[in-house]
Amino acid sequence: MHPLIINGQAVRTGQGFDVLNPANGAIVGTAPNATETDLDAAVAAAQEAYRTLSRRPEEERRKLCEAMADALDHHQEELARLLTAEQGKPMNGLGSRWELGAAVAWARHTCTLSLPMKTIQKNNEGTVELHRKPLGVVGSITPWNFPILIAVWHVFPAVLTGNTVVIKPSPYTPLATLRMVELLNEVLPVGVINSIAGDDRDVNIGALMSAHPGIRKIVFTGSSETGRKVAASAAATMKRLTLEMGGNDAGIVLPDADPKAIAEGVFWGAFINNGQTCAAIKRLYVHDDIYDQVCEELVAYGRGVVVGDGAAEDSALGPMQNRMQFDKVARLVADAKTRGRVLLGGEPGEGLFFPPTIIADLDDGVALVDEEQFGPALPIIRYRDIEDAVARANASPWGLGGSVWSKDIQKARGVALELDTGSAWVNKHVAIQPDAPFGGVKASGLGTEFGEEGLQEYTDIQVVSY
Ligand code: NAD
Repeated sequence: MHPLIINGQAVRTGQGFDVLNPANGAIVGTAPNATETDLDAAVAAAQEAYRTLSRRPEEERRKLCEAMADALDHHQEELARLLTAEQGKPMNGLGSRWELGAAVAWARHTCTLSLPMKTIQKNNEGTVELHRKPLGVVGSITPWNFPILIAVWHVFPAVLTGNTVVIKPSPYTPLATLRMVELLNEVLPVGVINSIAGDDRDVNIGALMSAHPGIRKIVFTGSSETGRKVAASAAATMKRLTLEMGGNDAGIVLPDADPKAIAEGVFWGAFINNGQTCAAIKRLYVHDDIYDQVCEELVAYGRGVVVGDGAAEDSALGPMQNRMQFDKVARLVADAKTRGRVLLGGEPGEGLFFPPTIIADLDDGVALVDEEQFGPALPIIRYRDIEDAVARANASPWGLGGSVWSKDIQKARGVALELDTGSAWVNKHVAIQPDAPFGGVKASGLGTEFGEEGLQEYTDIQVVSY
């Protein structure tokens, strides 16, 4: 059984639950099923470690974060293999090796950030200073799509700013995160990062974390439905919250775009990680003038993409991660097929394999367009008027990302500014980077991650006047 790490000690608890390889159903490993008592122990350890860590100067905490980044770097291949085995994503392409490389890049960039004291006033009247102080214990709750990368997004800014952490991965993909926490603990003082896990059956550890009086902040990445529950539960203890939730990103192809030139970018903008990506293109609006050519080029590109076991070096896409999500995508595709034209895929494959699916001639109001499919099925919608396309893109409860595709960068930039989204890209999608703040508007979330703005979310402000 993969252990939890509580107060620097390996803890094997409860019956444990099996984690299955989505490519073949084989058992990858067993994760511990933590109890409320285990959670209390993890929070107590983090509170104790906080007393010391929060008093250490920023430069010392930076050294700890650099040591964590080195540990992650040295174990990239081991973690990537475990990630592919439990998540299903391919080793290559935009898969596990990419995720580990990105995790190290994010970790290293976070190590360069700083939140120095700011002097607001210094004159005969007196001095006013703005200090950024850590919060306490941060509870991190992560999803199953990018478990390692998202854990790094949560943990590094928390520790750099002087907080300690209890992290809980998704029951679908707990193993790589548990192993990562074990490795990070080799270079950390005890209690700074603690792991907790559960199968969400008899005990829902995430719900207990959101309500726990010893936790000062929850950073949550997952669905909007669960995020709302976290917010409601956290209100009683006035926790700070960062919520990165779902999306239904629109891509808008303007009439002057070059269909062949954009096909690869649009395809991967939609199908990265089998579409199981928060900010992927989940509906594509294409101008009537080039509609047929864009459809043809996307299909031509998609036909060449190799789908197979993620462990095979030539796979560009693996299976979907779990049955629940597979069934949702199958239902949405079955419905969309009766309303539109299947250009690629369309039939569920063996096990959890679902081929990249493109369905054209759909419209708003069809579930595959309106809902977050979170899977390898892209609906294409024809439009004639750009303002109308923007209005339809914005007529969504979500507002995570969006993209505009065109040869005219300035024109596309103007359209991008019209989107009600936290991020808007031109001729690319989900092009996140560690120095650019990322977050959702509307139902897509609360708060921001990355960069200095993201770091600030792990602090409270104290103003000192004298
Ligand atoms: P999910 O909401 O089902 O689960 C996320 C995490 O919350 C898991 O660890 C789960 O165990 C935990 N959880 C379950 N019930 C809980 C409760 N009552 N209280 C607290 N925690 C609870 O999400 P998922 O299916 O793992 O992930 C897919 C979703 O995540 C998609 O909607 C996707 O768009 C979103 N996502 C968003 C981002 C982003 O940055 N915005 C990134 C990745 C994924």
